[in-house]
Amino acid sequence: MNTIALIILVALLFDFALNCLADYLNLSMLKDDLPRDFRGLYDPERYRKSQEYLKVNTRFGWVTASFDLVVIMVFWFGKGFPLLDEWVRALSHGPILSGLIYMAVLMISKSLISLPFGIYHTFVIEERFGFNQTTWKTYILDLLKGLFLGIILGTPLLAGILAFFEYAGASAWWLCWIAVTIYMLGVQFIAPTWIMPLFNKYTPLEAGELKSAILSYADAIKFPIENVYVMDGSKRSSKSNAFFTGFGAHRRIVLFDTLIKRHTTGELVAILAHETGHYKKKHIIQSLILGALQMGFTLYLLSLFISYSGLFEAFYMPRMSVYAGLIFFAMLYSPLDFFIGLLMQRLSRRNETEADHFSVETTRDPQSMVDALKKLSVHNLTNLLPHPFYVFLNYSHPPVLQRIKTILSR
Ligand SMILES: [Zn+2]
Repeated sequence: MNTIALIILVALLFDFALNCLADYLNLSMLKDDLPRDFRGLYDPERYRKSQEYLKVNTRFGWVTASFDLVVIMVFWFGKGFPLLDEWVRALSHGPILSGLIYMAVLMISKSLISLPFGIYHTFVIEERFGFNQTTWKTYILDLLKGLFLGIILGTPLLAGILAFFEYAGASAWWLCWIAVTIYMLGVQFIAPTWIMPLFNKYTPLEAGELKSAILSYADAIKFPIENVYVMDGSKRSSKSNAFFTGFGAHRRIVLFDTLIKRHTTGELVAILAHETGHYKKKHIIQSLILGALQMGFTLYLLSLFISYSGLFEAFYMPRMSVYAGLIFFAMLYSPLDFFIGLLMQRLSRRNETEADHFSVETTRDPQSMVDALKKLSVHNLTNLLPHPFYVFLNYSHPPVLQRIKTILSR
């Protein structure tokens, strides 16, 4: 086993162990008595249910993570990578088509292996806790649409990356960077109007009390919010959410129908103001820029490693290729990705606090924001007391009690 193999193996095991530790700490925080702020909202029975939900999901996470780890080890040390390579090379297509086939086989196998777990999660766990509203028909159609999109959007992207690294020599990484960035921006740009409607129905918010409340809020902050859409989230789950998407003329704020059903107008305006805060505080543009920088950095590192024979030896590959190099590099990169991920989560938590502030400052209605957060948490069976280490590893939002505290302390 060479150094590269050792680094990847240690990283895989370390990541697994770290997540198990975080889960363990998280579960050890569970207490029987309800936090004071939630008295009167969470009844004891529902609070118990939220803890049960956390336990069930954590256990399920352990099973999937262990299974994934075993599969990858067996495939790696059972010399699955070179075996597949031999088969693909025997078809004797050029390097680009071979690369696409190699990657497609790996990706499709991965999806098929995780399919039973996904089905179990939706139709057993989510069903048991009253969240699932998906029918088999919707579930299967989602899978097929996902596959179709993956082929349509993924093929040119991957073929492009492979071609740059195959033929462009030392300039490959930055040419690739420019191309990939433009491509990603293009996809983001068309996503709200062309891609998302494949999965959900988006209807403009009807005239009424909510619409006029939103318009007068938009007027007060001098920010045009014409594009508020209602999404039929209830088609899949009773959980509710809201988000801001797209940019330019395509930008829109989306409220789930499940959200509108359950919240007061004041709460909905507070939530919408939070989403507007993400836009006004430039979080959307910030995440686009950071994503692009990260992409450039990754491609540069890729260019350094892609023709390094040690990377291929680590996976028992007798012959080098751009496509296999891409996959092996992704595995080698994962520890770095992990640390970058932690920084991004931290930034995201800070942005959420900023968006909360924006909402409270512009609506001058902290109570509605707090009520909205409480209601959302109770309905979604949110864990009220996550362990700080678990939050550090996994949370893109601050824990709800902390958000409430911050809002009320201003
Ligand atoms: Zn947010």
